[in-house]
Amino acid sequence: MMEKQDIIHSLNELKSEDEIEILSQSKNSICLYDYQAGKEIVYTFKRSKTELASHVHISRKIPKKYRPNREKLVQYILNLPSDMLLTLSDIWFVWGEDDYDDMVSYYDADPAYACDLYDENCLGKMWFEKNAAIVDVQNIFNSALEIEKQDIAMGFEGNAYQDTLEQIVITAIHEIRHIMMDTNIILPEDEYPISLASEFEVEEFAREWVREYGWNVF
Ligand SMILES: [Zn+2]
Repeated sequence: MMEKQDIIHSLNELKSEDEIEILSQSKNSICLYDYQAGKEIVYTFKRSKTELASHVHISRKIPKKYRPNREKLVQYILNLPSDMLLTLSDIWFVWGEDDYDDMVSYYDADPAYACDLYDENCLGKMWFEKNAAIVDVQNIFNSALEIEKQDIAMGFEGNAYQDTLEQIVITAIHEIRHIMMDTNIILPEDEYPISLASEFEVEEFAREWVREYGWNVF
């Protein structure tokens, strides 16, 4: 687990090598500019319920039965290893293409990003430039319906509802894991070898976590 003093130490090292610039610093966070990636990264040392809740965006367009409960979800995410939450900015639960426009305008980013990010075949996405995780609930729902159709055609029982709920949580963890592996520029390699950043390992982590802790955030 990365401790505050180690993080500050490592970041100061990068600063002395002119890799980054520290833009602002408070008791609980450091905001920096990463020259190589060409973006800002905020390190938040200790995430609290209220602080994290303010970074969880749940679209009102998501049908109620598939909409995570903010409080339960925040508690669930806070139980993840704290290293996974260090550089995470926001988590977005979206439903439909319009939500991508709203998300992009939240950051005052170029509207063209919305088209780049939207992909009807993607269950989730990491927005690298913003260190944000996107969970596309509509796509997850559609994919669960497809699987249900196949199941029913083969004589099995359909389970799209439960599958959707479970997949929403798996996808959220999956993307948060990507954020840690790909956006934390001082992640210790002995603890987190680069191999853990692969799609396979990231998905394994997410599925294993949900097997162990369930997906009751609704
Ligand atoms: Zn992935």
